[in-house]
Amino acid sequence: MKRYFKNIYQAFSTIFTGMSITFRHFFKKSVTIQYPEQRLQLPERERNRITVNIDDCIGCDQCAKACPVSCIEIETIKAVPGDVVGKTGVTSQGKKKVLHISKFTIDFAKCCFCQLCVFPCPTNCIYMTNVFEYSEYKRENLIYNFAAMTPQEAEAKRQKLAEYQAEQARKKEEAAKTTATTKAQTESSQQYNTNVNKQNNQTS
Ligand code: SF4
Ligand code: SF4
Repeated sequence: MKRYFKNIYQAFSTIFTGMSITFRHFFKKSVTIQYPEQRLQLPERERNRITVNIDDCIGCDQCAKACPVSCIEIETIKAVPGDVVGKTGVTSQGKKKVLHISKFTIDFAKCCFCQLCVFPCPTNCIYMTNVFEYSEYKRENLIYNFAAMTPQEAEAKRQKLAEYQAEQARKKEEAAKTTATTKAQTESSQQYNTNVNKQNNQTS
């Protein structure tokens, strides 16, 4: 009988203790927020996802060289004379673009948000955003592609460059042959003049 009343006492006592804690917190300022509807302000030096303004990228590879985890991959194709690189051929600061960017990927599964790629960029086109929510089910979806060229366009540019280089090599070879022929003719003419002069000297 004594145990019966003791159990009733304990039940009420624990309910009262629990409810009193709940009641006290009811009037205190909340420490949690209703994320994602509510968001905390990010700290001043937060680290988030990197992005690239490919229109201003000159393909110099400085960012990829600075990356400590090698998560930036860049491939470029030399522009041939007459080619307009990108939309306008220049960056927004007026710097001439001479390389087509056929590949520019960043693997955010590897990126450690060190920001070391940002500082060496001569055109300030790689920078951090305020985006930090980009989870994916598949790791390969974390490889972001910033290049604007399709594989077909890149192949066409490669082909054009190969043709241009072959044409340049042919012209160089022709020019070398012409120079060699001219040199041989000049030497032969000089030799002839020398011989004629010798004969004239001997006769006189
Ligand atoms: S933030 Fe660091 S790890 Fe990420 S891409 Fe830039 S250099 Fe590489
Ligand atoms: S450093 Fe800047 S300009 Fe050079 S390849 Fe990287 S993003 Fe492009």
